[in-house]
Amino acid sequence: MADEQALDEVVRFTSDLIRIDTTNRGGGDCRERPAAEYAAEQLAGAGLEPMLLERTEGRANVVARIEGSDPSADALLVHGHLDVVPAQADDWSVHPFSGEVRDGVVWGRGAVDMKNMDAMILAVVRGWAREGIRPRRDVVVAFTADEEDSARDGAGFLADEHPELFEGCTEGISESGAFTFHDGSGRQIYPLAAGERGTGWLKLSARGRAGHGSKVNKENAVTRLAAAVTRIGAYEWPLRPTATVRAALAGLAEVYGLDADLSDVDGLLRKLGPAAKLVESTVRNSANPTMLDAGYKVNVIPGEAVAHVDGRFLPGAEDEFRATLDRLTGPDVDWEFVHREVALEAPVDAPTYARMREAIEEFAPEGHVVPYCMSGGTDAKQFSRLGITGYGFTPLELPEGYDYQAMFHGVDERVPVGALHFGVRVLDRFLRTA
Ligand SMILES: [Zn+2]
Repeated sequence: MADEQALDEVVRFTSDLIRIDTTNRGGGDCRERPAAEYAAEQLAGAGLEPMLLERTEGRANVVARIEGSDPSADALLVHGHLDVVPAQADDWSVHPFSGEVRDGVVWGRGAVDMKNMDAMILAVVRGWAREGIRPRRDVVVAFTADEEDSARDGAGFLADEHPELFEGCTEGISESGAFTFHDGSGRQIYPLAAGERGTGWLKLSARGRAGHGSKVNKENAVTRLAAAVTRIGAYEWPLRPTATVRAALAGLAEVYGLDADLSDVDGLLRKLGPAAKLVESTVRNSANPTMLDAGYKVNVIPGEAVAHVDGRFLPGAEDEFRATLDRLTGPDVDWEFVHREVALEAPVDAPTYARMREAIEEFAPEGHVVPYCMSGGTDAKQFSRLGITGYGFTPLELPEGYDYQAMFHGVDERVPVGALHFGVRVLDRFLRTA
């Protein structure tokens, strides 16, 4: 059981890490090294030998291994990213990099995504050193750079250039699962992530005949692009519930005493009420137009028009995604991936999933643990190249009225101290027994 010092440390570490500004503005504009050094120092204080690894100067990652008591067991990866998305101080109630603890809440960019988990990992590992505890499995701890951009300096670099550090790892845990979801009727659900949709960020290019804005022009690139964008935005993607999503629907149906009728997924979603939010973005592929760029003067028809689309596809549904985009864009508009990442699926009947569920249930006996698929992606995609199955497990017990999803990349990102304490207890319990 996590001791008092671990509970104090998780709050201090969260706050300290927030104060180290690791804003990732994209395109290489970020410096995680001071946060990596901080994490490495805490690990060294626990008797470990952390390694700092950089592909690019200043973009440091940290990896350390804790030897388990059972050498025949597979290793487990526990990872968290050190970078955060930008924050506009003027919009915030407190300075986003103050790490202020006020009325039992830690405030700042990264409080939820995901310096909280980084701090929980450090606090748990240091607690083990004090108590002389060894987990059963080898636990590899990794703190990564660049998750909020391309991961090229972070998990992608570690997976490609340092696979030896993850030898024996078969499973991994990281962000965005095991938090309290309140449905408004008093029920508490703990969604545990067992999959991620794939990422397909697209660039659309329409070509046409440039010319005077007053002349007849049936080959107008702007018109062609706008038509394609409209078709994509209006398209109703067919239902493609994967194994994880079906398990999520079945789990939620059980919580609500409903018939898990998967022949009518939309009907089931309606009956689930607020809890439908946990699944509705993952029952089908999606493609949302997000950027438009064309023209330079009102009386000039440009020869080219460009748009960007945020596409996401479910495991097993990427071919359909591509074919559908071919069809929706049509003959006059080309499309290409500017960024593509795989979709993931993790088994919910695995012993590791059961250990995670038990750890939550021990400290949240009223909670209903159900699997879910993340609509977006994490570093788990990079580590999947090493054969590591990823789960989203960052346990947080959250009070009713606290809008967890709005905290991600949001204004006034913050985390209750009590949630961090719960997280340390559950993570400690899980990692000891995994
Ligand atoms: Zn994150």
